[in-house]
Amino acid sequence: MTDRLSPKAIMDKLISFPTVSRDSNLPLVDWVESYLNSHGIEAHRHYDESGEKAALFAHVGPWIEGAVILSGHTDVVPVDGQPWDSDPFTVTERDGKYFGRGTCDMKGFDAIAIWALVEAQHRGVTRPLQLALSYDEEIGCTGAPPMIRAMQPVLPKGSAVIVGEPSMMKAVTGHKGGYGYATHVQGFEVHSSLIHTGVSAIMFAAPLIEWANRSNEANRDKAPDEIAAMFEPSWTTLHVGVIEGGTAQNITAKDCRFSMDMRVVPSESADDWGDAYKARVREVETQMQAIHPETRIDVTQTFNVPGLKPEKDGEAEAIVRQITGDNESHVVSYGTEAGQFQEAGYSAVVCGPGSIAQAHQPNEYISVAQFQAGVDFADQLVARLQEG
Ligand SMILES: [Zn+2]
Repeated sequence: MTDRLSPKAIMDKLISFPTVSRDSNLPLVDWVESYLNSHGIEAHRHYDESGEKAALFAHVGPWIEGAVILSGHTDVVPVDGQPWDSDPFTVTERDGKYFGRGTCDMKGFDAIAIWALVEAQHRGVTRPLQLALSYDEEIGCTGAPPMIRAMQPVLPKGSAVIVGEPSMMKAVTGHKGGYGYATHVQGFEVHSSLIHTGVSAIMFAAPLIEWANRSNEANRDKAPDEIAAMFEPSWTTLHVGVIEGGTAQNITAKDCRFSMDMRVVPSESADDWGDAYKARVREVETQMQAIHPETRIDVTQTFNVPGLKPEKDGEAEAIVRQITGDNESHVVSYGTEAGQFQEAGYSAVVCGPGSIAQAHQPNEYISVAQFQAGVDFADQLVARLQEG
């Protein structure tokens, strides 16, 4: 049996693997698996389609349902073009901070979770603890749903999930859902002087974008429900951030592509918003096809991150509140994997060390104090699991 590493030593190791989302995370997964194995903990993998990435999950304690699950992602955002004062893939301590890509988002928490699992194994727990490490979180939270599906037939079902995204150890019980659609309007080219026989993809994109504007105004003007009122702003927002199309000022545009993203308050249905958009698309397409039948509009979903809905008497929230003493309500504006766990039937909360303000930045860091607060939290969590 190998030595029990400190949380800091585990973080050092995790940061040393440059698991940028576009690259493989298998060297990191190999290390975590062999470390857990060396402490008698069996780990399971779920590979993505490429076989280059894997999620890892593990269970400690009695083989019964009701585990607390500590969940984090293993991927990090790129460092390309960012001015770093030290090697991003080596943890460097200065001024009371640990610098390194992923220290804050979120290998610091991953390290604490791995440490907690090994602690639980050695101390002995009467309520189980599980670890779930995903991939591809930073490119649209696409790795967690297949991981969750893969865990369910292999491990006894856990009940409360703590997703350790940086929240300054506050209990975050809600976030909006994020949904993205790529829209490709395909028009028909003629000289612009003959516009009655042509279809400008740009001009038929315009009513779809205007639909987003009008929806934003209508959403803003209606009274928010109790859950929506927690958010800033307290309504669902639609946004077109990228658009391209057209070839010349005197040719009706053959193509126009734009992105439509939706930030949906968790009390509203994202599917309803998607359906409303697609219904508007079909109306516009019908108008286009009345001019020229070989025109069309294709809509494909590019991301889908369900919102996290504050739970009434949620178990995950209760565990975090008991340990941290934080009794306030917090919601955040960024999406996490907690909404995906909740959608799959788990109680879920976001609570992790560090501040989201430091995530994705050059010279990303977690303060030594926040890292220690995370370790103290995990230590108390394991103590509670020993009591059952
Ligand atoms: Zn993250």
